[in-house]
Amino acid sequence: FDGLMKGKRGLIMGVANQHSIAWGIAQALHEAGAELAFTYQGDVFKKRVVPLVEPLNPALVLDCDVTDAASLDATFKAIEEKWGSIDFVVHAIAFSDKDELKGRYVDTTPGNFALSMNISCYSFTAVAQRAEKLMTDGGSLVTLSYYGAEKVMPHYNVMGVAKAALEASVRYLAEDLGKKAIRVNSISAGPIKTLAASGVGDFRYILKWNEYNSPLRRTVTTQEVGNSALFLLSDLGKAVTGENLHVDAGYHAIGMKNPEAPDM
Ligand code: NAD
Repeated sequence: FDGLMKGKRGLIMGVANQHSIAWGIAQALHEAGAELAFTYQGDVFKKRVVPLVEPLNPALVLDCDVTDAASLDATFKAIEEKWGSIDFVVHAIAFSDKDELKGRYVDTTPGNFALSMNISCYSFTAVAQRAEKLMTDGGSLVTLSYYGAEKVMPHYNVMGVAKAALEASVRYLAEDLGKKAIRVNSISAGPIKTLAASGVGDFRYILKWNEYNSPLRRTVTTQEVGNSALFLLSDLGKAVTGENLHVDAGYHAIGMKNPEAPDM
């Protein structure tokens, strides 16, 4: 992939630590020659994220809380001042109260429904609004989704509903921004052990289930998600927009338990 992203500049939102999907994507983009800026969420993450991204020579490392419009405005203003324009944005951000990522979806509270939707779905549109203005020569936006958007997955609950809305918003954004050669896609990643995933009830069971039952008989890595994001963010994906690319070892294609899988 050497040189694939040479001359391209983009923002990575959602690195929390070295296990983050956003970090796998950042590494793939860096190796391909992209120039990167990062956002992290508040001082708690700053301590971990600033030293982590340092070896990638980031142009900017900024504090940004996506629930705060002023914080988003300041992020894109800083990028405009630094670069003038931008070629891509990676949005790898989601949140829900973990007390509601177990038990029944029907018990979701209105407060957590609104918060989960705002952070996990609306924030991508809020980012797209601001990125559009800086994507003067076209661009590519990628967000992260999960199969719980399409089918009921245990404990995923309100996040499944938020991801379904996120995938729908990818299609609407693709139509709105396509005239400006801005592409909008999501990656539906298989389960990976990250900080966010640890909030989902029985996550280890979900990992094992995917390992036994996906066509490739394994789970996926953040590096593999990173390489697929590289495809969507680079000119290799130039005719792809409004797409939800499954990077899940094929799990989404399966309708029944693998008969050879051990009992769980
Ligand atoms: P992660 O915990 O490493 O990343 C989640 C990020 O969201 C963190 O960096 C956190 O700071 C950020 N965030 C949450 N609320 C925010 C706010 N208000 N403002 C700014 N940032 C905020 O976990 P991850 O698994 O790498 O998650 C990245 C994305 O991938 C999420 O959208 C997640 O739903 C999605 N995803 C994860 C999996 C998985 O199994 N890990 C599978 C499919 C999709």
